[in-house]
Amino acid sequence: MTANLTKQTDFDAIIIGGGACGLMCAVQAGFLGKRTLVLERNDKVGAKILISGGGRCNYTNLYTSAQQFISANEHFSKSTLSQWTVEDTVSFFETYGIIGKEKTLGQLFPESDKAKDIVNVFTSLCEDLGQGIWCDTLVDGIEPVDSGYYVSFERNGQRQTLFTPKVVVASGGLPIPKMGATDFGLRIARKFDLKINDTAPALVPLTIIGKDQPWYEQLSGNSIFCRVWNDRISFEENILFTHWGLSGPAILQISSYWRPGEYIYIDLLPNQNIVELIRQEREANGKKMLLAYLANLFTRKFAEALSDKLPVDKNLASLSKVDIDSISQLIHEFKVKPAGDKGYDKAEVMRGGVSTDELSSKTLEVKKMSGLYYGGECVDVTGWLGGYNFQWAWASGFVIAQGL
Ligand SMILES: Cc1cc2nc3c(=O)[nH]c(=O)nc-3n(C[C@H](O)[C@H](O)[C@H](O)COP(=O)(O)OP(=O)(O)OC[C@H]3O[C@@H](n4cnc5c(N)ncnc54)[C@H](O)[C@@H]3O)c2cc1C
Repeated sequence: MTANLTKQTDFDAIIIGGGACGLMCAVQAGFLGKRTLVLERNDKVGAKILISGGGRCNYTNLYTSAQQFISANEHFSKSTLSQWTVEDTVSFFETYGIIGKEKTLGQLFPESDKAKDIVNVFTSLCEDLGQGIWCDTLVDGIEPVDSGYYVSFERNGQRQTLFTPKVVVASGGLPIPKMGATDFGLRIARKFDLKINDTAPALVPLTIIGKDQPWYEQLSGNSIFCRVWNDRISFEENILFTHWGLSGPAILQISSYWRPGEYIYIDLLPNQNIVELIRQEREANGKKMLLAYLANLFTRKFAEALSDKLPVDKNLASLSKVDIDSISQLIHEFKVKPAGDKGYDKAEVMRGGVSTDELSSKTLEVKKMSGLYYGGECVDVTGWLGGYNFQWAWASGFVIAQGL
């Protein structure tokens, strides 16, 4: 490794992280006539965009509002989300040839189903606008100096330091370390004494261990539309049984609100009343076995799995009030105490992060450090599943660009 090179550059700002926030920031700054340099540790930008939505990229949600974001300050995201709205995201991508199609619950994907198309918009625009992108560049320090910052990094086996008047930390959160995630944003926040709200994996599958685990294992692969809730929130989407526990959209959503040691509750037949359904069925067909009836409502496999919890070998006419109460309890209030979650290897986002108390809600500049900005997943603003996290990343990138 050669000696450290310290250079003055003609860039108006350095952006650390070539993900959703950093790329949008670079492009928007370019539109305003500012030159930025994106430093990205991977060999290409937009790694998480490429894998998002199963490679199809759910790039926004038509119903975005501050309500779909978790933060110690529930109002903080409002200014950012109003400066760059969902309509702005949709028309921005349309301008560059990406037409959105809504899949479900307002989730917008490119019509082509290719996340790569989204990344290409940014790489082409950065090139056209003369915005620098240096990949294979691992940033490890930011040092405040008079009228700016030194940013130090390793590139091509060489340590370098660049001076920049402004620096944007868009280095993302902790999920999927094998894709380049680092704790850089949090490390820098600690160094500058910025408050960090507790971080944890979010939008993450939940695990079951111990005596209950084989029960989940036998159902592995079964997906059921449910309502999942705890004392904070409720979601209606599918859950997926796996050999280690529970996954699927409803579980990922509730995981962001779950804390170790707590229960979650599952209504396996939301918006219907099993007691009423059984009453109607037993009038018409009292000889039907409960097993066959439940197999019709769910799947045979699921009905069979309930045999150790319910009197499935009784016919409907012979069910007692106690039986029906226990069926109702199990179907409408299935109680689960997860052992834990699948961690950052499987989480889609990080909950918590740099406290919004430290940032201007209008500009996302660190209040006590002029010229230092935080955006995207590093910040304590965490979206629900469904395109909200990208909307936050695009919007925060846009807002920061206005101040560069
Ligand atoms: C499997 C998966 C699927 C997802 N699907 C969706 C979806 O469909 N819709 C949605 O809204 N959200 C989705 N998300 C969440 C979404 O990807 C993130 O919220 C979003 O990418 C955050 O943007 P960001 O710019 O803050 O961070 P990132 O996109 O993570 O970008 C940060 C960049 O910084 C780089 N970096 C980190 N440390 C350093 C360093 N020290 N030096 C240089 N570079 C560094 C990283 O390599 C990375 O490229 C998904 C996440 C995962 C993991």
